[in-house]
Amino acid sequence: MTPPMPSNQGALKMPVYLDNHATTRCDPRVVEVMLPYLTEVFGNAGSRNHAYGWAAQEGVELAREQTAAMLGADPKEIVFTSGATESDNLAVLGVARFYKDKGRHIITSNIEHKAVLDACHALEKEGFEITYLPVDKEGLISPEQVREAIRPDTILVSIMWANNEIGTVNPIAEIGAVCHDKGVLFHTDGVQGFGRLPFDAKAMNVDLVSVSGHKIYGPKGIGALYVRRGRPRIRLEPMLFGGGQERGIRSGTHAVHQIVGLGKAAELSVEALTNGEIERVKGLRDRLWDELRANIDELYLNGSWEHRLPNNLNASFAYCEGEAMMMAIKELAVSSGSACTSASLEPSYVLRALGVTEDLAHTSIRFGLGRFNTDADVDFAVKLITEKVGWLREMSPLYEMVKEGIDLKSVSWTAH
Ligand SMILES: *Cc1c(COP(=O)(O)O)cnc(C)c1O
Repeated sequence: MTPPMPSNQGALKMPVYLDNHATTRCDPRVVEVMLPYLTEVFGNAGSRNHAYGWAAQEGVELAREQTAAMLGADPKEIVFTSGATESDNLAVLGVARFYKDKGRHIITSNIEHKAVLDACHALEKEGFEITYLPVDKEGLISPEQVREAIRPDTILVSIMWANNEIGTVNPIAEIGAVCHDKGVLFHTDGVQGFGRLPFDAKAMNVDLVSVSGHKIYGPKGIGALYVRRGRPRIRLEPMLFGGGQERGIRSGTHAVHQIVGLGKAAELSVEALTNGEIERVKGLRDRLWDELRANIDELYLNGSWEHRLPNNLNASFAYCEGEAMMMAIKELAVSSGSACTSASLEPSYVLRALGVTEDLAHTSIRFGLGRFNTDADVDFAVKLITEKVGWLREMSPLYEMVKEGIDLKSVSWTAH
């Protein structure tokens, strides 16, 4: 087994990258296996008549085995896609459109990735009814909630394994058991969990699972959808029509170099669970939180501590307005839950769904630790954030009032 391989030990690479939920750096071992498929092994995996095609097909089938192994699945259960956005769309739209005569009700949660939520919104226009289950204040969905929401016309439940903003980990096996008990198909967006937590398709009671390459140190533009085999058989209405690749579920010439990269990334993700990588990354995350908490008051954790990805931290730095904060810590590549960094004007819908106030949501920062982070990265982040939070709060009249013991809720702000 290959050991974890921090790339920037020693000198810090600026800005320090702590945004591994948005994307991850391609592992050099992944790049290495991809390169020949852009040069010598350039064949079309569908070409059956010559060695170029056979070699490409061999690469695709090895990657299918590696990806299946990450899910505890059979290679025949893997459908390659262009990424998890497509996988989520294919699962939700594919099931809905195939089973529409059986029922037109779908259950999901209000903090799913937009690839699920917007697919559901599209289905509403096609006459489907969607139940958006509210998460609790930690960001979790309970099996009981799902059981109560299932109706005779429910055809699909889609609940994510781990959330990409707050790192909450749902009880997927228990939710899946409820769905199977009720005879309803169960899809989970598994993107953020792979390579951080163990997974087994059978034990998790899942029918459909979305995977993305670039969230597990693989290339962008490649993903997979696990489609369970066996009874009852799962049918999907395809979104793409053409050459009939991937058993007709996903037409299009195989992106062989990307697929091979996803396979290698999946193999490394399985190793990461047992070679000490996850403990090391969790150690970095835990130290980041412990030291920030020791240095900074009025600091609030978002999401659950117990049911959380080992590499995620999401916290609100009260009285540090989002945009000013992001400007002040430009040497850190992190994400803000504030509106100003995204196309929409609302603060993070995920934080709002937890009941985090708009004020606090605007001051939130998401940290995503990963394979290539080092102790030095955490030291740098703690020092910079501590310094800048102090500086921003020195300029904040509200923070000053709180420190003087004034209850802000009791203050009347309107001039008389
Ligand atoms: C990134 C992400 C996606 C989308 O994956 P792409 O491969 O970038 O299309 C879907 N769901 C979750 C939870 C994600 O984090």
